[in-house]
Amino acid sequence: MVILGSGPAGMTAALYGVRFGLKTVVYEGMQPGGQLTTTSKVENYPGFVEGIDGGVLVDKMKAQAERFGAEVRYGSVTKIEKTNAMFVLTIDGEEKVEAGSVIVATGASAKYLGLPREEEMKGRGVSTCATCDGFFHRGKVVAVVGGGDSALEEALYLSKICKEVHLVVRKPYMRAANILQDRVRESKNIIVHLESNVTELLGEMKLTAIKIQGKDEAIVVEVSGLFEAVGHNPNTEFLKGMVDMDAAGYIQVSSPSTRTSVEGMFAAGDVADSHYQQGINAAASGCRAAFDARDYLQSKSF
Ligand code: NAP
Repeated sequence: MVILGSGPAGMTAALYGVRFGLKTVVYEGMQPGGQLTTTSKVENYPGFVEGIDGGVLVDKMKAQAERFGAEVRYGSVTKIEKTNAMFVLTIDGEEKVEAGSVIVATGASAKYLGLPREEEMKGRGVSTCATCDGFFHRGKVVAVVGGGDSALEEALYLSKICKEVHLVVRKPYMRAANILQDRVRESKNIIVHLESNVTELLGEMKLTAIKIQGKDEAIVVEVSGLFEAVGHNPNTEFLKGMVDMDAAGYIQVSSPSTRTSVEGMFAAGDVADSHYQQGINAAASGCRAAFDARDYLQSKSF
């Protein structure tokens, strides 16, 4: 059984798979540990009363799967072919690996706004990860775009290390959990701009200011960083044409199973979930995928 991705879905599938007695290999993918590694503190994963650092949580999941014999390899699958019953996977465009069953747990990646000059400003002030890049803006003024859980978590995280945080929300309200909204309101250095959009990135070699277009007027705010938290795209590019997906590219599964339209291929975690997108759901679907893969492999007597 080969598992693609090493976030909570992939590592839980590995833990169950290896304990079922399957030879279990995980390819970590582009972002080992997945999106939880970009979160600071995870407060809603059951069992951790005081919360736990996202990176530590996925490291523990990996160590737990490895303890039972799962093999976690560096690399990403760039192509999958199926000949008769076997899958042939190309790793990083070179190495070929055969598998009787594949669990796709490649997750999703942060979206960008698509602003003019955004490409040029990536890594020069524009980022999608406050825990990765916030450090560079210590004591400075930054902005965050978005009104969801990610945006508010980023704003709260940045408010602790930056002088001031401008939170730019396109709607008249935020969609994030109430507890996060309360914390944002209570924060003394987060300024919320409702019904507003960032329309321009200003600066020569790096970002120095943004233009925020509100309902009635536009303002220019001097910032050293802009953190975009405007949702995610599923990491399914390499499977286009092979497996059924919805219009946004999320893999379709026959719920409650994790079966995809390709026999022997299962999908778990955010790559097949455009709605819940929680670590605990990803882990749970990884568990189901391991059951489904085991049943499939037994039925084929590999
Ligand atoms: P999300 O819930 O899809 O929110 C995206 C936000 O970005 C929305 O406020 C959306 O505005 C805004 N947006 C999208 N496109 C935009 C654009 N072009 N310009 C300006 N704003 C734009 O994404 P998310 O916050 O990344 O969360 C994804 C999932 O992960 C959710 O299910 C969330 O609950 C979960 N999550 C949970 C936690 C936690 O539990 N602690 C932490 C992080 C994420 P509109 O509201 O107007 O659409």
